[in-house]
Amino acid sequence: MSKTIIISNRLPVKITKNNGKYSLQSSEGGLATGLGDAYKNGNMLWVGWPGIDIPPQDQPQIKERLAKMNLVPVFLTQEEINLFYEGFSNEVLWPVFHYLVTYARFEQVYWDSYVSVNEKFAEATQSIFTEGNKIWIQDYQLLCLPSMLRNRLTDTTIGFFQHIPFPSFEIFRLIPWRDKLIEGMLGADLIGFHTYDDVRHFLSTASRLTPVNFSSNIISLNNRQIIVEPFPMGIDFDKFEKLPLQRQVLAEIDNLQTEKQGRMILSIDRLDYSKGILERIRAFELLLQLHPKFIGEISLFMIVVPSRDTVAQYKELKEKIDQLVGNINAKYRTLDWVPISYFYRSFSIQSLSALYSAADICLVTPMRDGMNLVSKEYVASRRDETGVLILSEMAGASKELNDALIVNPNNIGDIMNAIVNALQMPVEEQKRRMQSMRALVKKFNVNRWVNNFLSRMDDAKLLEHSLR
Ligand code: UDP
Repeated sequence: MSKTIIISNRLPVKITKNNGKYSLQSSEGGLATGLGDAYKNGNMLWVGWPGIDIPPQDQPQIKERLAKMNLVPVFLTQEEINLFYEGFSNEVLWPVFHYLVTYARFEQVYWDSYVSVNEKFAEATQSIFTEGNKIWIQDYQLLCLPSMLRNRLTDTTIGFFQHIPFPSFEIFRLIPWRDKLIEGMLGADLIGFHTYDDVRHFLSTASRLTPVNFSSNIISLNNRQIIVEPFPMGIDFDKFEKLPLQRQVLAEIDNLQTEKQGRMILSIDRLDYSKGILERIRAFELLLQLHPKFIGEISLFMIVVPSRDTVAQYKELKEKIDQLVGNINAKYRTLDWVPISYFYRSFSIQSLSALYSAADICLVTPMRDGMNLVSKEYVASRRDETGVLILSEMAGASKELNDALIVNPNNIGDIMNAIVNALQMPVEEQKRRMQSMRALVKKFNVNRWVNNFLSRMDDAKLLEHSLR
């Protein structure tokens, strides 16, 4: 069986330094889980940044230790992290791809660094590549890498998957380096997105910016054919279904059930302007205003996971959330009830599981989201099949989870009505909806997502050979 080389911005490892000593801990995210046995058995190599700035004298020992875990580091300097990662990736691509173009900073130095860091990844990959390996590149930090590798390694299959949305041409064209980005992506044989809309946007953008043709979902470029397809990412359903059976989780659920005041709405996101957090809080406030019968009967349990909060726009968002929550709590709280329990920190997977299990409603209202895994984790955790998911139509997950209450995240009246509907929904209806969503999340789990992508890479290779 041929080896697969996975390339992502971050390696699935957490490195910490204490008293000059490094400790390495593997941190399996969805992708590593989905890769399953192949990852554990070492039938693959993973190339990426180890997550911290490691001085040159320490790099050889880290490289050696990572090699034992089948991981290959790309060491980045602090300046590269600032310009390539925080700069181009997070201040150009992230806002533009989420349709928030006014937040973008189109700096030439960001772009220069983005190209040179993508080259670094290409070099690291080339140095470990052996014939027959196939390559699977992950996400928007590495858009130039497919063509860089195509030029260096002529006979390999290259897959690329983007985990965030791909915007429409009118938005994408605002990026000064738009042609180079598309040319970079077109080095892949298979390009995947979460949804069919992303695929459509990419096909039309590619055909308008570069001299390529496409028919159905296949792009023809010189003598090559490139398949572009949706692969909606799933989660580890079994893990989330079984977590509520753990003793610690059961104890936490118990605790939440006794402590909770009335019914509970759960909201979980990273701090990000794409997540619609302020609008969600305003919808909750509107509910208390227009339906005072729910005062004391319902509370919002809101987790915001700290992220990028040194960046001005994120800091500002955090301040606005703090203020809004403070105002609502001050205005509506009673001696024995608080409308919003707000946490600005991350939680263990056990605590998340307990919250998913205890929440009567899960409120997920991003302005734009590639997929949104929180919504799927809520569904997988609902062992008794009750509970209502309210989901933004702008999240990729809404294309699959049709039995959620689907809302427009800009319409706070719409969100408020959905909460009222959820609170009044008969248990039989909750179960009918939840059953069908659970069947879907179970079937299209992360294992299946990985296997689908890898097997389509094999198809892409066959297609290429048939053209020779
Ligand atoms: N999450 C976490 N700790 C927390 C809160 C959330 O690890 O305290 C996880 C959550 O379980 C989910 C992920 O963060 O898997 C968020 O993924 P999602 O696709 O919803 O949003 P993203 O942050 O990737 O945009």
